[in-house]
Amino acid sequence: TVITNHLPTEDLQALDAAHHMHPFTAGGELAGKGARVITRASGVFLTDSDGNEILDGMAGLWCVNIGYGRDELAEAAARQMRELPYYNTFFQTTHVPAIALAAKLAELAPGDLNHVFFAGSGSEANDTNIRMVRHYWSVKGKPRKNIIISRENAYHGSTMGGASLGGMVPMHEQGSLPIPDIHHIPQPDWWAEGGDMSPEEFGIARARELERAILELGEDRVAAFIAEPVQGAGGVIVAPDSYWPEIQRICDKYEILLIADEVICGFGRTGNWFGSQTLGIRPHIMSIAKGLSSGYAPIGGSMVCDEVAEVIARGEFNHGYTYSGHPVAAAVALENLRILEEEKVIDHVRDVAAPHLRAAWEGLADHPLVGEARIVGMMGSIALTPDKAARARFAAGAGTVGLICRERCFANDLVMRHVGDRMVISPPLVITPAEIDELVARARKALDETL
Ligand code: PLP
Repeated sequence: TVITNHLPTEDLQALDAAHHMHPFTAGGELAGKGARVITRASGVFLTDSDGNEILDGMAGLWCVNIGYGRDELAEAAARQMRELPYYNTFFQTTHVPAIALAAKLAELAPGDLNHVFFAGSGSEANDTNIRMVRHYWSVKGKPRKNIIISRENAYHGSTMGGASLGGMVPMHEQGSLPIPDIHHIPQPDWWAEGGDMSPEEFGIARARELERAILELGEDRVAAFIAEPVQGAGGVIVAPDSYWPEIQRICDKYEILLIADEVICGFGRTGNWFGSQTLGIRPHIMSIAKGLSSGYAPIGGSMVCDEVAEVIARGEFNHGYTYSGHPVAAAVALENLRILEEEKVIDHVRDVAAPHLRAAWEGLADHPLVGEARIVGMMGSIALTPDKAARARFAAGAGTVGLICRERCFANDLVMRHVGDRMVISPPLVITPAEIDELVARARKALDETL
């Protein structure tokens, strides 16, 4: 049989169950119902194989920033595939899409992040970062300055390096992780861990965990600190305002490279081109992926400041991927950036979408199940709680409340993800106010049905 959209859903699901191994999916989770088969999409709506229209509150996996169905990107890919479908950027060659994309990114990035090392994904970008910062200090005569500090409950990818940097305990329990010389400090999640402290006190206290770790490990041992400007996959954890200035001070004081993982926050998600701009930080390196191509083609990379790039360029950095700077992915990314820029999508976020979403989203805080409702730009979360006043959390294992809520969303044709007992959203940036109202109405209905 030729397998197309025209096969009955049950047949597609049976083949899927027989042959397709799904990422981050528990055995038995799909038993008896199968995975929902998504067949096409346009704007902020997905269509499944039974013809249902689903509002995508997650922009895929936090990536479809310009929304679905933009022909210009398909045409850019086809044009590039005909002209030069592949060539590498190793061994003294280059090509126009990689040159043009690198130059464009240097123009958009803050500060002197003027250099790009391309990768195929966010995980690969972070693997590059681990090797690059260690090599950097080694070239500078400090090979022992190789420990990278990250945060508990961070997400930096699924490769050995990315998952090691990440602070996801269930990931570390599999595959002998983390790799050596990665150190984790607590996250700035005031709602869950702030106790009696005010958010501002807590922000300072959590930032000082970085200083404590540096002093314990030794300044001469710590190469870099990596963090997401706003933790995404960990549940859209927004640090108190006092946190980032203190982190910046500590990195400056101890000569620690600051790596901002902008894989989610980049390309407009927080209301600026990069989350570092929204949070007021000055990274030496930024990881990028996802919104770089709005997910239309797999591409990622590391943006690197002048000084680090100069040190790395002194010798050979023995690192690279077959698809580093892939011409088709680069052409798609360029077209995506053109749309973000010419259609003023980030202005739309700042002036229209984010204020509207904030008002609607924070309105959910009056729901009996909802503790805090947080939002930065176009990424938001609500913490589900059995007792608001006490900032109580559902008992461990009862991440199931989140799971039930997610399933109620799905049944109401809304994609909203759950992370333990937090529900998160990250819709396409081009979403309209009317669509935002629809999203939040469906979320409220799902919350009512979860009660
Ligand atoms: N870094 C962050 C902050 C992410 O959110 C993700 C993916 O969700 C990654 C890295 C990994 O990117 P990828 O899945 O493209 O490897």
